[in-house]
Amino acid sequence: MTVIDLHSHTTASDGTLDPLELCLRAQERNVHTLAITDHDTVAAHHFLLQHTTQVKLQLITGIELSTTWSGAEIHIVGLNFPLNHNDLTMVVKAQSDARRRRSQHIAQRLARRLSQWQGEQIFQQVLDNAIAQQKNSPHGFALHPDEIQIGRPHFARWLINQQYCQDMDSAFRKYLDNSKIGNLKAFWPKMSQGVAWIRALGGIAVLAHPGKYRMTATKLRALIKDFKLAGGHAMEVQGANHSHSQIQQMANYCREFNLMASQGSDFHNPNYPWADIGRLPPALPQGLTPVWSNWGIGEAADKNTTRQTLL
Ligand code: AMP
Ligand code: MN
Ligand code: MN
Ligand code: MN
Repeated sequence: MTVIDLHSHTTASDGTLDPLELCLRAQERNVHTLAITDHDTVAAHHFLLQHTTQVKLQLITGIELSTTWSGAEIHIVGLNFPLNHNDLTMVVKAQSDARRRRSQHIAQRLARRLSQWQGEQIFQQVLDNAIAQQKNSPHGFALHPDEIQIGRPHFARWLINQQYCQDMDSAFRKYLDNSKIGNLKAFWPKMSQGVAWIRALGGIAVLAHPGKYRMTATKLRALIKDFKLAGGHAMEVQGANHSHSQIQQMANYCREFNLMASQGSDFHNPNYPWADIGRLPPALPQGLTPVWSNWGIGEAADKNTTRQTLL
């Protein structure tokens, strides 16, 4: 069986394994093809270019862009673009700047609620924490402080450290999710912009975890239609967030809208065994075109692939 996992995170964003640790864990778990898709950064891929001898699986370039559509936050996974594409730096910079401004606003808003704190103080502590965490990287992976991608999980950890919350779940429920003060969407580009960027890079645009958006069937269908009209190529059918019936539902949408199918664990942390790297059902539902159909999987495996000719 060929294990293909096209959605995963490292310490370059909000994962807990450094890029090489992730590859080694994926190899141990028999993953053949892996896409690292950190939130709004490709730093893990640049780092791995220096460790090609240790990476013994087919590595696919990837990124997960935060975007908005009709008031909802929608994630677009981009796959298999050339790492040296001229426009990639621009896309990453636009998203990183948006993320940095957003995290400063989140800090300000939390400070309004937790009145003994200044926003700048919270932001600095969250950033310092992220910098300190990088020191644990067994393979010396560390980002410049300006490049560190601060997200809501970093604020959740701060809220836990300060004993405002007991765990990640309650931090999100109380401060960071849905309509709570720490959830700001206004900074992100439109979904159609995210899709256009991935297309401009020559990548495959994938609608990430459609089952996770907690939408009515009518709204989800409208989202998928708009994604297709924006030039989207594929959607995630299988993943840790999808139940058996959601897999069937997403498979039907792929057939209806002529989208390819993707799959990925959305791995963040080895302590979440339900979303471990490579933990996916053995095969996609019948009659779907996988995004990897012309990546040469199963043939003489070409390891360290960062670019394949597609479509
Ligand atoms: P951000 O990228 O800053 O919007 O943060 C979103 C990330 O937070 C997601 O990619 C998940 O990794 C994480 N996340 C979202 N909801 C929860 C939750 N309830 N508990 C733990 N982590 C969460
Ligand atoms: Mn995440
Ligand atoms: Mn996501
Ligand atoms: Mn993800």
